[in-house]
Amino acid sequence: MDLEEKAALTSGESFWRTKAVAGLPDVMLTDGPHGVRKQLAGADHLGILASEASTCFPPAVALGSTWDPALARRVGEALGDESRAMDVSVLLGPGINLKRHPLGGRNFEYLSEDPLLTGVLAVEWVRGLQSREVGASLKHFAINSQETDRMRVSADVDERTLRELYLRAFQRVVQQARPWTVMCSYNRINGVHASQHPWLLTEVLRDEWGYEGVVVSDWGAVVDRVAAVRAGLDLTMPGPDPAGDRALVATGGSPELDAAAARVAALVRRAAAARGSYSYDADAHHALAREVAGRGIVLLKNDGGVLPLAPDASIAVVGEQARTPRYQGGGSSQINPTRLDTALAEITALAGGPVTFAPGYDDIEAAVALAREASVAVVFAGTERETEGADRESWDLPAAHVELITRVAAANPRTVVVLSNGAVVRTTPWDAAVPALVEGWLLGQAGGGAIADVLFGRVNPSGRLAETIPLRLSDHPAFLDWPGEQGHVRYGEGVHVGYRAFDAREQAVAYPFGFGLSYTTFSYGPASVAVVDGGVSVRITVTNTGSRDGREVVQVYCGKPASRVRRAPRELRAFENVFIAAGTAAEVSLFVPFEDLAYWDVDLGRWVVEPGDYSFSVGSSSRDLHASASLVLDGDDERRPLTPESTLGEWFADPQGAAVLGEAFAAIATESGGGLVADPEMFALMASLPLSRLAAFMGERLAGDNLAKLVEAANP
Ligand code: BGC
Repeated sequence: MDLEEKAALTSGESFWRTKAVAGLPDVMLTDGPHGVRKQLAGADHLGILASEASTCFPPAVALGSTWDPALARRVGEALGDESRAMDVSVLLGPGINLKRHPLGGRNFEYLSEDPLLTGVLAVEWVRGLQSREVGASLKHFAINSQETDRMRVSADVDERTLRELYLRAFQRVVQQARPWTVMCSYNRINGVHASQHPWLLTEVLRDEWGYEGVVVSDWGAVVDRVAAVRAGLDLTMPGPDPAGDRALVATGGSPELDAAAARVAALVRRAAAARGSYSYDADAHHALAREVAGRGIVLLKNDGGVLPLAPDASIAVVGEQARTPRYQGGGSSQINPTRLDTALAEITALAGGPVTFAPGYDDIEAAVALAREASVAVVFAGTERETEGADRESWDLPAAHVELITRVAAANPRTVVVLSNGAVVRTTPWDAAVPALVEGWLLGQAGGGAIADVLFGRVNPSGRLAETIPLRLSDHPAFLDWPGEQGHVRYGEGVHVGYRAFDAREQAVAYPFGFGLSYTTFSYGPASVAVVDGGVSVRITVTNTGSRDGREVVQVYCGKPASRVRRAPRELRAFENVFIAAGTAAEVSLFVPFEDLAYWDVDLGRWVVEPGDYSFSVGSSSRDLHASASLVLDGDDERRPLTPESTLGEWFADPQGAAVLGEAFAAIATESGGGLVADPEMFALMASLPLSRLAAFMGERLAGDNLAKLVEAANP
């Protein structure tokens, strides 16, 4: 390829295609993530009906709540099949930004507030997709957890928080699943645009994590094409970008441009080799969408066993959303579904008794009258919209929905509420008035059937919250730093994202992270933990003590009670989604790799497993911990060299430093020197003083050459 061709290949031909350059064909990239949105020719970017029909699988909010990597893999495979059938080479997903705040406008496109859950699910999704020779695009890299001012805002985050929280899932997926592409985000990170961030795109992604695939821009994220290529961005989308191509040619070329063009060429060759006629079974995919949706539903409350519904119950279904479902969010991920189930039709199909319906929100009296006559009332309530491009203004349900819930619940004590929402909504105080609450998220095209499956017990609910539902929005750790001002959003809560902060502050929540009920019950035996090759093994026996088969999500949370860095009391470090037949027990064995216990040490610039005591708690949510055990780990700490800037406290905490300094002090015939170490009060006063500053108190014998000699002796 000559210089012009290299420049041309690194920007698209059109909105969705690469350029056919130097004998290479062009290939198509398309959204993503919960379906294939292949736009029809001539249609605009976001017109929903202007794309080919494809299966609308449950958006990430519901997939995340399944806590089931095997399901994520099957969804990835199915998406791969549909992409192949539509001649799409790269599907723009999964979205793996953390849900930092309940008002995040794209929370429905993201999996969780926790990086481990996000990463584990996304690894399998990518493996599934790419098993069909269709590339994934891991997005949005990075720190794109809000929509407000998304193309300019600087996410200001300290490095430990970046590494341990916001980059963690990206690292896992890059290293374990090798996505063909990574999509840079729109925002700036600590002042620098993600699209031209050398530290992010080259030092971290390629040099540290070993990434070899293509970095593609989010659509329109590139500000300065030359700077972007220099930083490690390979493909600018959408195209064409003749001015950018010319600017690259004018630079006379660079090793970075050579590498970018080579990587895009490799992607195109690989994708082109996989093209050819292909088909998929739309009915089977609809059935998979229903299965996943059923598994993503979270049963939040079920007092008195109101659910599952008796087969012959007389049911009043109220709320327009039962008939006109909210099943996906707005924006680039919006799919034109192959079919669309409604909960009303599916409930009617499964019911053995009479089913009545009232739309409810504008017509509350009629709904109340139906509810009064039925043996059970099912109220559908939810958000009106969630969309890319805008954060939510409120987390409250529409007032009419809340009124419908409370009025129906007053008329019929057996009232079930089914929610449809892309991110958590406020559930208090109205949830106290209803015995049963079903969190139905946005469930994709087959969600209506999945809701009916759960209501009638054809599916025993096993979804778990992938995000905390707080009592009040103001309790949320990100509340004070959302959504930023004057071009910056400060990630002030640091590593304490989501449940990490609620637990650290011992704060009551409405429903905790990891929580979800079942129609059966589980009991936990004691936990045993042991150091094994590469990590810690955690074993526990879980018994299904009820009369229905069910799935339990066994969760392991780790803590490091005395740590040199500030940590959450418990962090999710492993989980296992297990099917347990009624009356039987399962031996569950989980593995926590040492590397997942590490913190990012800012001074050393690397991950460190601190030596000492670690706690391992096993439970069915971050707050329902049934067994725990602890273990002392050797860690992989290394001695930090002592310097003139190390404090007296640090010198004396180090055996070699203490010996060297103790001897020096003894030799100094001044009172303060002698008293310093012996007198605890004096030592406490002086412990934070860097050694270099001690000369001001103790004279020349701790300055200049003398100081240099001490430092040398302390670091043999
Ligand atoms: C979104 C991406 C999407 C791209 C292409 C952007 O506005 O942020 O998630 O993949 O458009 O539609």
